[in-house]
Amino acid sequence: MIADDKLLAEQAAYYRVRASEYDEWWQRVGRYDRGDAATRRWHTEVAQVETWLIEARLAGDVLELASGTGWWTERLARIAGYLMCIDASPETVAINQARITAASLKMPIYKVADLFEWEPVTTFDAIFFSFWLSHVPPDRFAAFWAKVAKALRPGGRVFFIDSAPEETASAHDHRMPDENGIQERRLNDGSTYRIIKLFHDPEELTARLAALGWNAAIGRTPSYFIHGKATRASRAPGDGR
Ligand code: SAM
Repeated sequence: MIADDKLLAEQAAYYRVRASEYDEWWQRVGRYDRGDAATRRWHTEVAQVETWLIEARLAGDVLELASGTGWWTERLARIAGYLMCIDASPETVAINQARITAASLKMPIYKVADLFEWEPVTTFDAIFFSFWLSHVPPDRFAAFWAKVAKALRPGGRVFFIDSAPEETASAHDHRMPDENGIQERRLNDGSTYRIIKLFHDPEELTARLAALGWNAAIGRTPSYFIHGKATRASRAPGDGR
């Protein structure tokens, strides 16, 4: 699937308009309430991913990509020496900032930017992104990871969290993405948007990243999430050394 600019613009617009209702997804309320059992399972698995992140002992200068309303920014702000957040939506950045203020944490540096246009100018000890990779179209996957590599210091680490293909993760009035990874998303006012949502299989993703010169270790929780850590391989494939 080659995602056109119009689809990527629609995806970015969706997240801008969704900003004020985005955390209903994290909290499993409203259209994301899939019943008590699913809610319990969700929160248990969120806690498992949090434990994984804490045990990674991420520290130093950290870059968060597609930081959104700050569910993970708050956790990163507790452990990073310096934190920079990039997101295309000023509306999510405002909510993110309010969350950091409410938690009395040191305010990260925020940049409103399109990650498909972004060019890294500084480097970081760690780069984190959650629920972003599934929105990167296949024809932009390699370019995205090349930018991540450019923004990473030698010995630096990348951490990511994303969705496993579980229907109850999304709203009850959403269907799973089509065979091209395009999904129709609905907001509380009934408006609809098309986005890209690609579920990455941990084994396949590990192999794809290896082909791009990354050593990745990717795990998953029972239903909802995948979580991965990646470092630059000392020898990139085909570098002839
Ligand atoms: N990381 C957050 C989390 O875990 O809750 C937010 C993830 S949300 C699924 C995707 C985020 O990507 C949204 O905050 C949206 O504004 C942002 N986004 C969408 N298109 C973007 C683009 N082209 N460049 C930068 N950010 C973008």
